[in-house]
Amino acid sequence: MRYRCYKCKSFAQGGRIFEANEGEACPQCGAAGVLDLRPLDDVHFLAPAPDGPIYSLGKRYAVACDTKRDGLALFPGDAYSATGDAQHVTCRSCLTTPAYRQAAQAFRGLAERLAGVHGVTILPGGCC
Ligand SMILES: [Zn+2]
Ligand SMILES: [Zn+2]
Repeated sequence: MRYRCYKCKSFAQGGRIFEANEGEACPQCGAAGVLDLRPLDDVHFLAPAPDGPIYSLGKRYAVACDTKRDGLALFPGDAYSATGDAQHVTCRSCLTTPAYRQAAQAFRGLAERLAGVHGVTILPGGCC
């Protein structure tokens, strides 16, 4: 899963995001405690989709990386998160979908910036 390390980068700077197995230390600075490392839940992209399985406020949507998923939280306590705002997506799978790339075009340089933050490769053709 992914973590933010607040020892590498301050809270005000947003921490440094890295991928590790549960219980592992930050590979850059060695921090391992709950005060320095915070686990992250991914924020998925909720894409407008005429026949999408998720219905809200008169419109249909599909999660960009899991178009069959028919709800966000599927059980009590499920922290699954999704947004229709392209600026706040963190899921690395969603970031490489054509639906996300299209939505991100409304924000100059957004897809490239988030790809850098989350370690995603975007090919010049526009998709992964
Ligand atoms: Zn660190
Ligand atoms: Zn996703």
